[in-house]
Amino acid sequence: MSKRAIHLYPWDGGTESDQDPPEHVYCGTDGVMTDDQLTNYWQYVTCKRCLTIREKELAARAADDRDKKVKLFDEAQAITITLGHRNISTAIKALIRERDELRHERDNLREDRDGLLETGAHLL
Ligand SMILES: [Zn+2]
Repeated sequence: MSKRAIHLYPWDGGTESDQDPPEHVYCGTDGVMTDDQLTNYWQYVTCKRCLTIREKELAARAADDRDKKVKLFDEAQAITITLGHRNISTAIKALIRERDELRHERDNLREDRDGLLETGAHLL
C-alpha cells in the first residue's frame, strides 16, 4: 500500500462558540481520512493539491503586497512632486536638511531672545 497524502487540516481547537473542527481538509478532498493524514502544520503536508493552493495563495498575497507598495509609492511621489521633487529619496533628504536648518535657526532665535531678556531685565 502506497503512503497516503497528508493534508493540511487547519484547526486551532475552535472558539468558545464554535468548537467544531472544519468539515474539509484545506484542499477540499473528500473521503475518510485517518488522523495521520491530517496535520495542522505545513511542514508535514504532502498533498499536492494542498501545496498548490498554498503556493497560489502566497503568490496572490505577494502580488497584493506589491500593488500596495506601488500605490503607497505613487501617493508619496504625488506629495513630493508638489514640493518640487520627482525623486522621493531626494525629497526626503532635502526635507531633513531643511528641518535641521530650521531647528538650528530656532535655537539661535531662542538664544537671542534669552540674551535680550537678560540684557533688558532691569527695564521690566
Ligand atoms: Zn490536500
